[in-house]
Amino acid sequence: MSWALVPAAGSGRRFGGGVPKQYLHAAGKPLIEHALDALLSHPGIDGVVVALAADDPHWPGWTVAHGKPILTCIGGIERAESVLAALQALPRDVADDELLLVHDAARPNLHAHDVSRLIDAALAHADGAILAAPVRDTLKRADEQACIAGTEPRDRLWRALTPQAFSRDLLLEALASAQADGAAVTDEAMAVERLGRRPRLVEGRVDNLKVTTPADLALAEFLLARHA
Ligand code: C5P
Repeated sequence: MSWALVPAAGSGRRFGGGVPKQYLHAAGKPLIEHALDALLSHPGIDGVVVALAADDPHWPGWTVAHGKPILTCIGGIERAESVLAALQALPRDVADDELLLVHDAARPNLHAHDVSRLIDAALAHADGAILAAPVRDTLKRADEQACIAGTEPRDRLWRALTPQAFSRDLLLEALASAQADGAAVTDEAMAVERLGRRPRLVEGRVDNLKVTTPADLALAEFLLARHA
């Protein structure tokens, strides 16, 4: 069995009246509620730890959903610090080798089939696994004037999505090492890669989108309404 860690401490880019994006509503619920529902309704997940901003007035105070615990902790300045704080807030009886899934609070459209495939891949691969999507568009590198300086080969390029799944001890070692070295990591896999490990890429649904802009929110609304 496994636990999920949900970093939700980022104030990030705000739109829609200054509310942190994970609390914006789509299809009648805050994005973070969709994300938590997707995780906790999955039979492979035992509970979640949510990392919150210290002064978060929006958190509704949930402690249980789908009969499973929702724990909280205070996150940090960087996403990696928030995930480290969530690791430290796990119940004591979560084993060192237990699988942990880290999932963005602002990714509301996660499907159970992707969670199952990710868990299966991560259990079969000691370096962990992440959901990801192959790059389909042609990639251009820009110069300072936003003119095309070149075309980048896209073969074997993937976009990293979440959840990302690693054993508790590997994730802790990777994030603690990145922190000790002052290395900025933008996802958990990057921290694990720094240790010389090679997490598996699991092709996930491209509609597992991270809401960053108003256009993303409109798309999430459409997808979630259809899903419901
Ligand atoms: O800002 P970005 O979209 O990369 O954030 C991804 C996730 O990481 C969001 O759920 C955000 O709340 C979380 N985060 C965090 N602590 C931070 C920065 C981001 O929990 N310091």
